Order: sequence, then structure tokens, then C-alpha cells
Amino acid sequence: DKFKDGLTKTRDSFTTKVNDLIAKYRKVDEEFFEELEEILISADVGVETVMELIEELEMEVKRRNIQDTEEVKEVISEKLVEIYYGEDDEETVEALNIQKDGLSVILIVGVNGVGKTTTIGKLAYQLKQEGKNVVLAAGDTFRAGAIDQLDVWGERAGVDVIKHNEGSDPAAVIYDGIQAARSRGADVLLCDTAGRLQNKVNLMKELSKVRKVIEREIPEAPHETLLVLDATTGQNAISQAKTFKEATDVSGIVLTKLDGTARGGIVLAIRNEMNIPVKYVGLGEQITDLQPFNAHQFVYGLFG
Ligand code: GDP
Repeated sequence: DKFKDGLTKTRDSFTTKVNDLIAKYRKVDEEFFEELEEILISADVGVETVMELIEELEMEVKRRNIQDTEEVKEVISEKLVEIYYGEDDEETVEALNIQKDGLSVILIVGVNGVGKTTTIGKLAYQLKQEGKNVVLAAGDTFRAGAIDQLDVWGERAGVDVIKHNEGSDPAAVIYDGIQAARSRGADVLLCDTAGRLQNKVNLMKELSKVRKVIEREIPEAPHETLLVLDATTGQNAISQAKTFKEATDVSGIVLTKLDGTARGGIVLAIRNEMNIPVKYVGLGEQITDLQPFNAHQFVYGLFG
């Protein structure tokens, strides 16, 4: 139901258009698919993914000998889910890699303004609700106010924040974060990082230095590197994903502000074109407005 509420804008636009299309055409023909293609593209599903989807749909409709447009809706839902998971096992695509024993380190990356700090707060709260002991490391020492803002979210979530002064070395903050998390017997350390995209070389340097410090302490860490993207920026989010993928290993995406866009199809484009799974979606500004992503629930939220 959280999904349904959060997806109101996308549902109002995308699903209404699909329903209108189905009502307009009695028969499944070429024109029907052409219009469907346009609807999917306008929902930001991404041209590449739409082409693949339409091809799959046409084949399936032929195979099952479907004539009636009403039946096609079911097939669209099925194919949307299928295209999301591809060949992969759903469980491994969705779940966050958190160790049963010992400290798990999660690096959070992304451009300023996308909702990185909010997401860290929400994630800390959620993990804490699951019984995990969480510590935050204020690794964005570059942006003015970032440390204070993380502090506020730490307080809201009820978790400790390890911080240095603005302008200090992020790798040193993360190092201290690991030591503090260890001495507290914490399960998860969430590390904020600076979102400086203006200078890709600096971004890469900073992230690789931070990773080195983490790996020296815990060889298999970071256990996840989550890239935060703003769904309302559409195709720009895809280009950010490409840049970050070049700069560092990204294991999952958190897509924020999905509640604020009618173009929620971006979830499918990201997964399909970038081959990075969407692990969480942000569906509002409150601390509880973070949902683990599940393609079945997502598609059901749109059509159900
Ligand atoms: P940062 O600069 O990346 O750390 O971004 P912030 O965490 O400060 O968030 C920027 C703005 O986006 C704030 O006003 C947040 O309340 C808002 N925001 C973050 N996530 C969501 C979301 O999922 N939905 C909505 N509607 N707003 C969000």
C-alpha cells in the first residue's frame, strides 16, 4: 500500500493512459503497440527498454494468440516484472548485503540535492527498527552544512554520528567511523560521501581513497555501495548513474522522490540499461518513507 500511495502520480498518468488505450482499441494491432510504445517512453521507461519490452510483448501476444486488448494488460504487467529481474534471482537482486556477524559497511554516494542525507537517515531508522545497531560516518566534509544535516537525521533515527570538522579528510572520518562502530559492537556503518560531480577526477580520487581505508580495515568491505538518484530528474539520473559507475563500483541504487514524479518508469530503465538493481525507493520526506524495492509490488502498485 505504501507503494500504491507513493506512486499516485505515475499511476494517474501512466495507468490512465494504458487504460484509455485499451478502451480505444478493441484489437491488438500494430497501431496499438505504437501507442503503447509512446506511453512507455513518456513514463521514462527508456527507449532501449521500451523496444525490448514491445518486442517481448508482441511475441507473447502472438504465442498466446491474444486478440482482446483487455487481456494484454495482464501480459504487460508480467513483462514489466520479467524485464526488471532478467535472468537473475529476485532475492539476490533485492536484498541488501548485510553480514550476519560482524560489521557491514555501506557507502552512500550521489550528487548534492538528490536526497542522500535524508536517505541515510531513513535507512538508519529502518535498520534500527530491524534490531540492528547502526552508526553513521559524516564523510561529506566538502559541502557546507552537510555534517550538521546528517547530525539532525542521526538524532531523528536515534543513532550515533561520527564526525570531524568541515574540510577535513573524508577517509579519516570513515576510518574513525569504523573504529567507533567496532568499539560499539555495531552491525552497520553507513558512510556519507561528498557528491561533487563537477570534477570527476576529484570524485574518483576521493572515493577510491575512502574505499582503500575501508578495505584495509575490512577486506570484503564496503559490503554495498548505494548510489542515490533523484527520480524527478529523469534521464539525467541515468547519466549520473553512468558517471558514478565509471568512478566507482556501485552495487545498488536508491531512487528518491518517486512520489514526486509521473515518470516512475525510470526504475525499469535504470535496472535494465545500467544493470544495477534498485534496492530502495524514496516515497516521501518522512523518516518512514523508504521502501525496499520489489518489482512485483511496484507493477501491482501501478496496475492493481
Ligand atoms: P542531499 O543534498 O542529497 O543530502 O539531499 P537532502 O537529503 O537534503 O534532500 C533534498 C530534498 O529532497 C529535501 O527537501 C528532502 O526532504 C527531499 N527528499 C528526499 N527524499 C525524498 C523523497 O523520497 N520524496 C520526496 N518527496 N522528497 C524527498
